[in-house]
Amino acid sequence: MTIRTLDALGDVAGARVFVRADLNVPLHDGVVGDDTRIAAMVPTARELLERGARLVVASHLGRPKGTVVEDLRLAPVGRVLAERLGTRVTTLDEVTPDTLPNDDVVLLENLRFDPGEEANDVTFAGALAEYADAYVDDAFGAVHRAHASVAALPELLLASGRRAVAGRLVQREVDVLGRLLHDPARPFVAILGGAKVSDKLGVIASLTERVDALVIGGAMAFTLIAAEGGKVGASLLEQDRLDDVKSALTAARERGVTVHLPSDVVAAPAIEAAAPTDVVAAEAVPEGLMGLDIGPATIAAFTDALAGAGSILWNGPMGVFELEPFAAGTRAVAHACAESGAFTVVGGGDSLAAITREGLAGAFDHLSTGGGASLEFLEGRSLPGLAILEDDA
Ligand code: ADP
Ligand code: MG
Repeated sequence: MTIRTLDALGDVAGARVFVRADLNVPLHDGVVGDDTRIAAMVPTARELLERGARLVVASHLGRPKGTVVEDLRLAPVGRVLAERLGTRVTTLDEVTPDTLPNDDVVLLENLRFDPGEEANDVTFAGALAEYADAYVDDAFGAVHRAHASVAALPELLLASGRRAVAGRLVQREVDVLGRLLHDPARPFVAILGGAKVSDKLGVIASLTERVDALVIGGAMAFTLIAAEGGKVGASLLEQDRLDDVKSALTAARERGVTVHLPSDVVAAPAIEAAAPTDVVAAEAVPEGLMGLDIGPATIAAFTDALAGAGSILWNGPMGVFELEPFAAGTRAVAHACAESGAFTVVGGGDSLAAITREGLAGAFDHLSTGGGASLEFLEGRSLPGLAILEDDA
């Protein structure tokens, strides 16, 4: 798949370029926490500014569900963006083109304050189009969603003869993930974990068509263990997905994909750092206990499975890594990836946070800014935000 990039944008001197970014960063009491996503769109913003464009930057933040939520305003994000870009960033409180100042960079208010964003509403897209002489999508984390700023807006702009292209961040994601999708160095090992179980279970079936081995930890492992007849105690479980999971596992094994599930887990009665812990068999977690990390035997097996990999895709922590008693599995997997000779790609906000905390961010080949988007891309699906940027020339 080839997409149009900034190279195909043409002359933008003096033009207003609408940049859809993914500035969905964690906010704590009105202060930006991890600002990786802001930093990630800076190269595109800088390049456009150097080319003389005026930028209208837009993003969603959190899940306000179509109404104004004071805590989800983008002003704190605007302040960090201004620091990063070294230029004034004006934040608008409302999405109206009449009040658009003539500054170098304007940040629109949280797109999801308007119900039209998630509804992919053409009228809302029309309102956004008022700001745009051209359009750049640098929000990789949102390309899998048919939302107005990602789908209807570029479509509308293209229909009226304006340009719509991918920014450098989206370009790089498509390059790197495209390589994993079409021509991965083998063996190709995928490690899945985390807690967004129902989102990620669907990925298992399609990933098994591409990978040589599947390593599964985190909360999602328990639905697989239960599907195979194990007792998972009070661990997180998606009861209504057991049949799907069973057939995905069978299909994987029929295709010759090695599936690694935890053999032992660190269990506790509650998700608390002070809770008493016990290492138990993964398929015999006692009633009342929750599996909260992979155990030492599993760490050894998973580390082995990663050692000879040619490519590794990792999405989702192996346990409740935020609490020290349940952090060892995630830490071990992070080090195993970093030390392997494989081409390593990580996606997922929490997985990235875990790697950063270990000081290992630099040891990976690619840190994907889009967890869900990267998984859907690797499923080989057509993503609305990318399809519209496809180069059909
Ligand atoms: P990512 O953001 O990397 O995609 P998820 O959002 O799916 O990952 O999941 C991350 C969360 O999963 C973390 O907050 C972690 O505490 C939680 N988690 C991991 N393993 C377990 C487990 N066994 N039980 C409960 N929660 C878990
Ligand atoms: Mg997460």
